[in-house]
Order: sequence, then C-alpha cells, then structure tokens
Amino acid sequence: MGVVRLIVIGGDAAGMSAASQARRRRGPDDLEILAFERGDYTSYSACGIPYWVGGLVDGPEALIARDPERFRTHRIEVRTGHEVTGIDLDKRTVTVRAGSHTFEEGFDQLVYAAGATPVRPPWADTPAGGVFGVQTLGDGAALREWLAPGRKTAVVVGGGYIGVEMAEALVRRGLTVTLVEKAPQPMSTVDPDMGALVAEAVRGLGIDLRTGVTVSALETDGDRVRAVVTDAGTIPADVVVLGLGVRPNTALAEAAGLPLGPAGGLVTDLRQQVTDGIWAAGDCTQVLHRVSGRPAHVPLGTHANKQGRVAGINIGGGYATFPGVVGTAITKICDLEVARTGLSSREADAAGYRYVTATIESTNRAGYFPGAVPMTVKVLAERGTGKLLGAQIVGRTEAAKRIDAFAVAVWNRMTVTEMTSLDLGYAPPYAPVWDPILIAARKAEQALRG
Ligand SMILES: Cc1cc2nc3c(=O)[nH]c(=O)nc-3n(C[C@H](O)[C@H](O)[C@H](O)COP(=O)(O)OP(=O)(O)OC[C@H]3O[C@@H](n4cnc5c(N)ncnc54)[C@H](O)[C@@H]3O)c2cc1C
Repeated sequence: MGVVRLIVIGGDAAGMSAASQARRRRGPDDLEILAFERGDYTSYSACGIPYWVGGLVDGPEALIARDPERFRTHRIEVRTGHEVTGIDLDKRTVTVRAGSHTFEEGFDQLVYAAGATPVRPPWADTPAGGVFGVQTLGDGAALREWLAPGRKTAVVVGGGYIGVEMAEALVRRGLTVTLVEKAPQPMSTVDPDMGALVAEAVRGLGIDLRTGVTVSALETDGDRVRAVVTDAGTIPADVVVLGLGVRPNTALAEAAGLPLGPAGGLVTDLRQQVTDGIWAAGDCTQVLHRVSGRPAHVPLGTHANKQGRVAGINIGGGYATFPGVVGTAITKICDLEVARTGLSSREADAAGYRYVTATIESTNRAGYFPGAVPMTVKVLAERGTGKLLGAQIVGRTEAAKRIDAFAVAVWNRMTVTEMTSLDLGYAPPYAPVWDPILIAARKAEQALRG
C-alpha cells in the first residue's frame, strides 16, 4: 500500500493535535500530512489574547506553541495563508485559495478542524475602523495596534467570559470601559445569583456595566467608530470589542454534505469520525453533555485539544474515544474567580431535571489564617437520587480550582451524600477544617431531606 495522505483544515488546537498524534504513530513513509491554515499562525493560544491585550503577557510569539517551521521538523507540512474553500467527498479533494492562486489537493483522510465563527450582528458590519472581534492572534494584534495612539473610551458588547476578560484588559490599558449585556446579569453560564457577584466585581473595577441593554447600531464618523447606539442611550466609543459568542464554523462541511447536529456542530462518533476517513474535532463539532445526555456546543480549548488528540490517535492506527463533557469552565475578573461544572439551573430545567439548590458562604483557608477570604459555593442535586448535577463557585484566591473536585464528582455521578464524606486535603493555609465543598454538599443533602 502507498503513502496515505492526510489533509487537515485548520491549524490550531484541534487540527494540529490531530496531526501531531497521527505523526507520532505513523512515519512519513506511511503517512503524509498537509495542513492548511487561512491565518498567519499555527497552534496559538486564543485564550491568552485578553491577557496579551491587557499587557499581562507578551505576544504574539509567546502565545504560539508550535510554528510551521517546528511542525516541518516533525514532517508535518503546514501552509499558512491558505484557505480551504471547498471539499469534494466523491473526488476526495479540497479546493484551496492562497492569495489569487486556487488549486486542488487530493486526500485519503481529512481532519475538519475549522473552529468557530464569532457571532457578528448586522449592525457590526461597518467599514469603519475600531470594531474588533477577538478570535485569532491577528485580531489581538489589530486591536493592540488600534489602542496604541491612546484611545480613551471602549465599549465591550457581550458579558460572557470573553467579554468580561476583555473589559478588564481594556481597563488595564487605561481606557474608560462600558460593558453592555442584554441579559440581567453578566456571565449567564452561572445562575443569576452568582452572576450578581460577578456584576459587583465588574463594577468594582470601574467598568460601567449596563445589563438588560441591547445594541442596535454603531455611529461612525467616516473611517472610525464614534459611539454605540443602544435601546438605553448612546455610549461614546473609540473602540468596540465584540464578545457575543461563537457558532461552529461548519459552512464548508455542510456544503460538502456532512451531517450537522441539533447543537449546530458536526456530528462525530466516539472516535471523532464523521464518516469513512473524514474526521472532525474542536469548536466545529458538537459534543455529548454527560449530565443532560444531550448534544451541546461547548467551544473550549480543553475539549479541542483532547478531541484532536483522539482523532489523531485513531488516524494513526490506535484506538481512542472522546467520552463527552460535563460543562466545566473557569475564568476570573480582576481577583474574583468564577467557575462552574455540570448544569446550571437553567440547563437543569431545560434537561427536565427536578432538583434542589444549596448555596453556602465559606472561606478559602481557615478563618484565622492570613489571606482567608470569602467564597460562595452553589450546588444543584437531583431530587430522589441525590446525584450532584452541578456546582458553581465565586470567590477570591484559590476558590475557582476547587471546581475540579466537583467536576470529578459530576463525572462519576456521585451523590451529594457521598460527597459529604470525601477525604479532601486540610491544613489551615489551604482550607477550613470543613472544606467549602463538604459544607456545600452537606447543605444540599439537608435540602434534599427538607
Ligand atoms: C479570547 C478567547 C479566550 C479563550 N479562553 C479560553 C479559556 O480560557 N479556556 C478554554 O478552554 N478555551 C478558551 N477559548 C476557546 C479556545 O480558544 C477554543 O475553544 C479553541 O481555540 C478551539 O480550537 P479549534 O482548533 O477547534 O478552533 P480554532 O482555534 O478556532 O482553530 C481553527 C482554525 O481553523 C482556521 N480555519 C477556519 N476555516 C478555515 C479554512 N476554510 N481553511 C483554512 N483554515 C481555516 C482558523 O483560521 C483557525 O486558526 C478562548 C477563545 C477566545 C477567542
């Protein structure tokens, strides 16, 4: 048998994890790997963009894990500035555009890892400068360049975790920042009562947070943005940052006839295969939510890397599966840490669960120990079974990573009663004698009895 040809569409987390894993298992005499990336960078950390814009970390080089040169040493050919514009499944070819040049390349195996597309409402489509998404390192570089002459006012539209991280970054840059969110609280991935704590922290940073407000237009003066028009007034803006969420980037796959699921992403089997020899991974796919039992679109780097790895192992002749997600996410606003896992109340309602909630206040360390600060923990437990359905944490130092213990418990379908006896680490510098996790589990157990 001749050399198998693998083409990868998308040169970031999912695509290059797949390429790297496949290469580890099959040498160049057996497998040729050619990846197309329409942007300028490969294997970059979009997650680092807010910290780069805010001046906390260097970029863009520091945010790149592997560049094309490095991949070449591993016999993986990556072509940046190359956009795949079509897939022909019958002919097993892709059409590629590089500048004004268009050509076709054949494949035996294909990894579709085109990521997600930021939501960009019609009002954001303007030729005027000063309106930015933050999806790629190119976006980050363009925003930094725009900020350089000392812009003064910024409006961030969308109060999800990326919007909140960007608002903080712009404050760090010395701008006067307004954050506009149409929901009643920012960070709607946590329950509104926990989101209220986030709102307090956002305002504490000096950000003008406007909730329940919808943007309808931009005002421009020819070549640059001047203000954001909302249903509650007009807000001056030298720069507008969009953080309105993303959708799976499936246009090419859809045009080729590949199946999309109810969550909008490509449907794969457990091995990340869509159909014979066609694989998909990362933000362009839907995943199984292990608690709701439903398909979900959860565009996070942690999943993209794992899914890409699974696809690559299978392409390389091994066997691996991606078992789904439990909805764990973590972020921070200034020194306030926010984390969640499992289902929020809204998600549990949508899935049809009947459940109790319990919210507790505790501290990260023994109350008497220097640096002890408050934290709030909320848990959801299923009526009847007592199964932990989800948890949310808002607090300061060392609060948020406690979510990992909850994530393991959700993953393993533990009950809150089982959780009350968990053997968690205790010493005064690390936790009160009853860790907040144990206190929250106990309170949920009481709520179930009540
Ligand atoms: C500001 C920001 C902060 C984030 N923070 C976190 C975080 O803290 N934690 C976390 O887990 N996740 C975070 N994420 C999400 C994470 O970055 C993504 O989930 C991850 O990058 C998805 O990887 P991917 O390979 O599926 O897609 P992408 O990283 O989007 O890569 C897809 C690539 O495909 C290329 N491409 C698309 N179409 C074509 C085509 N037709 N031809 C050629 N190339 C194409 C794109 O240019 C892109 O480089 C953040 C994202 C952003 C934007």
